[in-house]
Amino acid sequence: MTELSPTKQGIKIDSCSDMKYFIKRTSCPICGSSSYEQKCSIPYSSVELSKYIYEFYSNQGSFDFNKLMKACFVAAQCNDCLGVFQLNIPNEIFTAEIYEKWLDPIKTYNLFETKKPVGYYVDYLQGVFRLLTSVGKLPSDIQVFDFGMGWGSWLMLCKGLGCKVFGSELCEARKKHAVGLGIQVLEYSQISQHKFDLINIDQVLEHVANPYEILIHLKGALAPNGIMRIAVPNGNGIERLLAVMDWTADKSSPNTLNAIAPLEHINCFTPKALRKLVDRAGLTVFNLPNYPRMEILHSPTMEPRLFASINNRVKERMRPIYRKIIPSKAVERDSLSTDIVVKLGRPRF
Ligand SMILES: [Zn+2]
Repeated sequence: MTELSPTKQGIKIDSCSDMKYFIKRTSCPICGSSSYEQKCSIPYSSVELSKYIYEFYSNQGSFDFNKLMKACFVAAQCNDCLGVFQLNIPNEIFTAEIYEKWLDPIKTYNLFETKKPVGYYVDYLQGVFRLLTSVGKLPSDIQVFDFGMGWGSWLMLCKGLGCKVFGSELCEARKKHAVGLGIQVLEYSQISQHKFDLINIDQVLEHVANPYEILIHLKGALAPNGIMRIAVPNGNGIERLLAVMDWTADKSSPNTLNAIAPLEHINCFTPKALRKLVDRAGLTVFNLPNYPRMEILHSPTMEPRLFASINNRVKERMRPIYRKIIPSKAVERDSLSTDIVVKLGRPRF
C-alpha cells in the first residue's frame, strides 16, 4: 500500500486534482436533476478514509491505492429527489479493476458465499415464494431473470421450484459458475430479446453509473404482466451519517456508511428516492400479497453472533406485524435494505 498522508490537517485542496481514474458527475443519477448540494468531501489519502479502504479491501483482493491518491470522496444530495450520490465515480476501466481485482472473485466467494447460514437462504426463499406466487403461472411457465446474479444462489431457488432461469453478470468467474449450475447466462445486449415474468435486481443499482438507463433497458424485457423486484441498501438517515462521517463504523453500527460505501455504492437510495426512480421509468408499484412466514428453520444456532441473532429475530418477529398494520405498503424497510416490487405502467393519481 502506498504511504498515506500523515495527518488529517495535512490535506491540501489540490489533493483532489488528479481525476484520471474518475468521472465527475454533473446531475443526479436517480432523477436527472442538475440541482444538488455537496454534503461532504474528503480525500482518499486522508488518514481515516485510507484506513477504511485498506481494511475493507486488503483481505478481498489486490488493490492499488495509487489510483486514489489525488482523488476525493464527495457525496452530494439531490435537491429534487433527495437521493444521495457520489460525485466522483470510478471510470469504466477502473470500475472493472475494482470488481475483478480489488474484489477478487475467488477470495470473496470463499470469504462470504461459503459462510452463509441456512437462515440466509430461508429469507431468500420467503421472497421467492411471494414473488412467484404473485406471477400467477405454473412454475414451469415462469421465466425468471436475475440482473447481476452474483453466484446464482437466488436463481437456483427459482430453478429448484421449476422455473426457467436466466442471469447476467460482469464477472467471468461468476458467469462460468452459473453456466455450470444450468443457468442461462445473457449478455447485456441479449436481455431485450426476452420477456420475463419476474426480474430481480438485488443490490445492483447502487453500484452502477446509470441506474435509470439500466432500469429502462430491463423494463423492455418485462412481460406484459411481469413484475420486477428491486432491492438496494437503505439510505434513510444518510445525511446524519455523512455529518458524523465515522469511517471506523462497521456494517452493524448505527453510524455505518455502507449505504454510500466509497467507490462501490455510488448511488444511495432512500425509499422515496427509489420510488422516484421507478416512477420516472414508467413503472408502477405492485403490492405483493401477504403470506405467513416459515419460522421453522430459524434456529439461533445458525447465527454465529449472539447479539446479531437476537436483533434479527426481533426484526423477524416484528415484520409480519408491521405488514399487517400497513398491508398496502409496498416499500419494505429494515436497517440494511429497501425493496420495491413494480410492474409496467404509470401510477394512477
Ligand atoms: Zn434526484
